[in-house]
Amino acid sequence: MRADLHLHTTASDGKDCPEVVARKAREAGMTLVAITDHDTVAGVARAQEAGRAIGLPVLSGVELSCGAGEEIHLLGYGMDATNARMDTLLRAQRAQRALRMQAMVEKLALLGMPVDPQEAQSQGAGVYSRLRLADAMIRRGYVPSTKEAFDRYLSPGRAAFVPCRRMPAEEAIRRLTSLGATAVLAHPGRLRMDDGTLQALLPAWIAAGLDGLEAYHATHSDAQCAQYDRMARRHGLLVTGGSDSHGRAGGARIGEQLHRWRSAPADVAALMERIRKKQDAS
Ligand code: AMP
Ligand code: MN
Ligand code: MN
Ligand code: MN
Repeated sequence: MRADLHLHTTASDGKDCPEVVARKAREAGMTLVAITDHDTVAGVARAQEAGRAIGLPVLSGVELSCGAGEEIHLLGYGMDATNARMDTLLRAQRAQRALRMQAMVEKLALLGMPVDPQEAQSQGAGVYSRLRLADAMIRRGYVPSTKEAFDRYLSPGRAAFVPCRRMPAEEAIRRLTSLGATAVLAHPGRLRMDDGTLQALLPAWIAAGLDGLEAYHATHSDAQCAQYDRMARRHGLLVTGGSDSHGRAGGARIGEQLHRWRSAPADVAALMERIRKKQDAS
């Protein structure tokens, strides 16, 4: 069992199309993956079809941006990607991204760095993202690297940053799970809050339907993996893992750091069991 449950494609801010992600995952030795693009499921069916042809199971997934104050990323797994209510939810998310991108592009223009907002959109799926905006800034010669684009302009507090309007995490958990998804808190170690704050928030999120924590993530230290693994089990939550690969040079590769997820066989079995139960119920 080698699972990577957090992968991006061209449907959001990833570099590779869904078919190529599936092929590369197979080549990297994965035996199960999930496609978790930001606020869209547009890449899921294509990756699943490609996966079927090469014997790689591909779980439907999504990474939802939410959080009233701090930004929180929520992974949804196993839902019916063709559900109309899911489409409504994700459309609204993408509409906020479009508004936010317009405002960021206006700020960049005032800074003497015009960018066509269309350059910051994913291929066909309508996901405007800062990572693609950074790509456009590099292409136009405004910055030499993604890191500089974020450090100087696109990160919170920087000159061209505009926050995206988001629903509170509790509401996102409720909506995602009511659509039959299994909801997992993405990369808890990347939250801009300390673990005491997270611990205090968890009971309400669990009451809202949170199913698990992504304890194993390419950016987590070994200590963080162990700590979130313990935190999840203490609260009766599922444990998951993902590289968060965007298929980019310098970023995480598929499967990266996931050798640390030693309990993956049992954890994945528990996740699949939860997904099955929810599908039966919905
Ligand atoms: P957005 O979803 O438009 O707010 O953009 C967030 C995305 O940008 C994340 O999912 C990452 O892929 C990427 N990102 C955020 N911060 C950085 C950073 N400092 N360096 C590189 N990529 C980043
Ligand atoms: Mn991303
Ligand atoms: Mn994320
Ligand atoms: Mn991600």
